[in-house]
Amino acid sequence: MSGYFKDLNDGIVSTLKGMSVTLKHLFSKPVTVQYPDEKLPVSERYRGKHKLTQGGCRGCGLCAKVCPVECIEIDFERHMKRVFEWKKFSIDYNKCVFCGLCVDACPAASLVMTQDFDLSTEDRREVVKDLLEWTGLREEDLENIRLLKEKAEADKKKKAAEAAAAAAAANADATGSEAASSKSASSKSASEKKSDRSEAAAPNPKGKGKKNKGGKGKDDK
Ligand code: SF4
Ligand code: SF4
Repeated sequence: MSGYFKDLNDGIVSTLKGMSVTLKHLFSKPVTVQYPDEKLPVSERYRGKHKLTQGGCRGCGLCAKVCPVECIEIDFERHMKRVFEWKKFSIDYNKCVFCGLCVDACPAASLVMTQDFDLSTEDRREVVKDLLEWTGLREEDLENIRLLKEKAEADKKKKAAEAAAAAAAANADATGSEAASSKSASSKSASEKKSDRSEAAAPNPKGKGKKNKGGKGKDDK
């Protein structure tokens, strides 16, 4: 009989202990989160999905070159050397090992890794992510291309005008030196002619002697 009451007492005590634990957790904050609606915070240095600042990307392709698994694909067309017509900038997360080498290699700091780790899907093709915010040419890109074309045209005209001016100046120099040399030649020939005339007009020293002799003879009479 005493054993019966002892077992009864043990049962009541253990039930109360269990209920106290249950009651304690009933009013405490739950530790589980309702993923994917809720997410636990991750470290600031966590290497999750990539984010591209498309406007700052120089299209150098270094990120793709350093990637050890070659999972980055970049495709764009460059207009007037500056404006990018973007077609593709994708990362295949089936292959990515989240090493961060692409981020370290980026000279423009346009590529970073975020804390977003959610890549769950039922289709593997969906984890090939295109990071582009836009593709093709936007209105502002078209405007930039127009301005760059106008500037290039103006520069071309300016250079042509400068070249024409330089050629004209060179021609003028050549004509001036030719004229100067021909003038100097003509003045030389004129002076030569003048000298010839002077020589012709000058009295012959022999003739003078005869005259003086004759005159003297007249004086002698
Ligand atoms: S994190 Fe590493 S594996 Fe992933 S894209 Fe960048 S370089 Fe490639
Ligand atoms: S390394 Fe940076 S700047 Fe160069 S293509 Fe990649 S994201 Fe763009």
